Amino acid sequence: MSAPTKPAAAHPGQLATAAVRALSPYVPGKPISELQREYGISDVIKLASNENPYGPSPAVVAAIQAAIADVWLYPDGSAHELKQALAAHLALPVECLTVGNGSNELLLMLAETFLNVQHSAVCSQYGFAIYPLVIRATGAACLEAPAYAPGAAMPYGHDLDAMLRVIRADTRLVFIANPNNPTGTWVEHAALKRFIEAVPAHALVVLDEAYLEFAELSGVPSGLPWLTDHPNLVVLRTFSKGYGLAGLRIGYAVSHPEVADAMNRYRPAFNVGNLAQAAAIAALRDPAHVRDAARRIVGERVRVEAALRAMGLQFAPSAGNFLMVDCGRSAAQVYEQMLRGGVIVRPIGGYGLPHHLRISIGLPEQNDRMLKLLGSLLPAAQAAGSA
Ligand SMILES: *Cc1c(COP(=O)(O)O)cnc(C)c1O
Repeated sequence: MSAPTKPAAAHPGQLATAAVRALSPYVPGKPISELQREYGISDVIKLASNENPYGPSPAVVAAIQAAIADVWLYPDGSAHELKQALAAHLALPVECLTVGNGSNELLLMLAETFLNVQHSAVCSQYGFAIYPLVIRATGAACLEAPAYAPGAAMPYGHDLDAMLRVIRADTRLVFIANPNNPTGTWVEHAALKRFIEAVPAHALVVLDEAYLEFAELSGVPSGLPWLTDHPNLVVLRTFSKGYGLAGLRIGYAVSHPEVADAMNRYRPAFNVGNLAQAAAIAALRDPAHVRDAARRIVGERVRVEAALRAMGLQFAPSAGNFLMVDCGRSAAQVYEQMLRGGVIVRPIGGYGLPHHLRISIGLPEQNDRMLKLLGSLLPAAQAAGSA
């Protein structure tokens, strides 16, 4: 018996599907430890991944600690207790729920469940980068609708009419982030309702409400109540942002029971761990903590907005816990200089926005440090502001 000989220079990466080979990888925010390693800086703050600096409540931390005793056991694959808690929280049947390892995994599940090479899916220019990634990985066509122009009332925002126009007979998914990341922009409630009514039944509308806790305080309500009248609506929520649990990886989808059933067939058996389930249950029992943190952050966002305006800097309207700031020149350099100053923000050149930075709202003292650094790096903007 002899093993088949391998060619001298094997390229096993070439074995990946053409669709996957063509993907551009998602670029996450730089971790604090990486900046410390590369630049030898110790006092680093990260305002790059829209995390919630207040974190979870002490009750959630205690629940995680208590759950550690059971880490040798597989988690409850059906997430029974968590789904009961979510169903009560949302006043909806458990059959409408699918839990995910962050909403990112739910996006993957939706793509794998509803798309193949014969289909297309719709998203918006400047929409969340994960959407085109999960669409294209399936071999489906990604139809990108142009966003509103920089000078529009909602600059860089989703143009729902444009999105409606690109829907085809083979479209199965339409992705809307409300508010959107990285822009922070949102779609008006009434306009979104009309849009959902107009989308044909062969396409599911995936309404990503990752920033709901901040959005509600910014006058942008949830579209969840429309679920009863629209079986093709899927609402995504996460514990990563408002709930301060980004490191645990847990989110959920709310949909028609048949959509949930289809997603749950494909869902990895133990996709959400014990600690994450315990934390989410405890978090739902402490809504005051989340509301409090969201209030502080939205208050800080308003303060940062005023400071940016005073510096003469432009930014897109935001209903989230972050702002997309126009540097008025290549943002790559500003990003680098901010890194040297120990402040990690997010360049978004990959979105086709090379002059903008996405900056998460942190604690008041972190925001002050960011503003001071930004002001020192963009003196031209400052001069324009005082002119
Ligand atoms: C952060 C974010 C998510 C959440 O991702 P998780 O996987 O739940 O951490 C989803 N959608 C958008 C638009 C986001 O910005």
